[in-house]
Amino acid sequence: KRVLNFGAGPAKLPLEVSLTDLFFEFFVLRIIRKPQTLRNFFDNVLKMLIIIYLFYFRYVPDNYKILLMQGGGTGAFASVALNLMGRSGKADYLVTGIWSGKASKEAAKFGKVNLVAPKSTKPGTAPHPSTWKLDPEASYFYYCHNETVDGITIQNIRQTGNVPIVCDMSSSLMTQRVDISKYGIIFGGTQKNLGPSGVTIVIVREDLMGNPLPCCPTILDYGHVSDMNSIHNTPTTFSVYVMEKVLQWVKKNGGVEEMERRAIAKSQLLYNTIHNSNKFYSSPVDEEIRSRINIPFRVGGPNGDEKLEKLFLQGAEKLEMYQLKGHRLVGGMRASLYNAVTYEEVELLVNYMNAFQKQHSL
Ligand code: PLP
Repeated sequence: KRVLNFGAGPAKLPLEVSLTDLFFEFFVLRIIRKPQTLRNFFDNVLKMLIIIYLFYFRYVPDNYKILLMQGGGTGAFASVALNLMGRSGKADYLVTGIWSGKASKEAAKFGKVNLVAPKSTKPGTAPHPSTWKLDPEASYFYYCHNETVDGITIQNIRQTGNVPIVCDMSSSLMTQRVDISKYGIIFGGTQKNLGPSGVTIVIVREDLMGNPLPCCPTILDYGHVSDMNSIHNTPTTFSVYVMEKVLQWVKKNGGVEEMERRAIAKSQLLYNTIHNSNKFYSSPVDEEIRSRINIPFRVGGPNGDEKLEKLFLQGAEKLEMYQLKGHRLVGGMRASLYNAVTYEEVELLVNYMNAFQKQHSL
């Protein structure tokens, strides 16, 4: 029996990507042991990524490289700064939530970090672009496309002269089309929309490679990793292997355009249920910056009723719906609607929400 996993990550895999089959195929039938086989396999996965990114970005410009690295999004918080901070010694950060906050703190170990606007003190809001103070000499401008904990998405970014834009897309990679040519670097772990944890995808413009800080470890040096075709040391073969299967699944299901259509449909269904609940459910996030992927909500009024929220979670688990509890720093509920979560599963969730409301409203 299949359980419903609304967790923020590592996320579920598509049903068609069966781990039992994968185990058998990978470990029993196709054990990768010869260096040349491994290299060919990696080359194929990179080609596959480019094929998918053709759907995704329409095109991957020739002056970009896709790297398969390790260390997750957190590792990239450091590697971005280690590779780019040398340009001017300072960088601009837009902090809109937990993850961009962590990234800015990590970068401050390697150079001067300028917060382009004070972080909003009001939860569920983000500094308005008109208030951002951008430095034309910054090594790069950094932001997080989808704040997984806070449920905030930043969709439109102002280009500032030659300052490259660096974007954390950990929780939104492969969920919507993006114009890659606007970016200097895009990065994200695979564990939400692309497979199991273990691989970090870094898409990097070529001119941003080759000038890391002298203290940059070789394993985090984008230029070196690119020269090594993403095999500098023992790679996470199984994670890459499963990612390839998920990419095949994305392709078979209509590519990123279809993933985007599904993300819009699933999130609208949930937001409409919240909106139509007569304030029984509420979203703590400003309407124009609401995430399609990670959706926090409160039960029993705008500040939540903790007793009701506990009951809500207990009832959900009885129906085999798991991981709906919000992040401890935000509270309330959070439903993560990654690519492998189906529209029908979100329907089951909203049916439960409607039934729960009926039972607990006066
Ligand atoms: N950035 C975002 C937006 C995330 O959601 C996460 C993890 O959930 C991270 C970074 C950190 O990623 P990792 O756990 O791969 O280091």
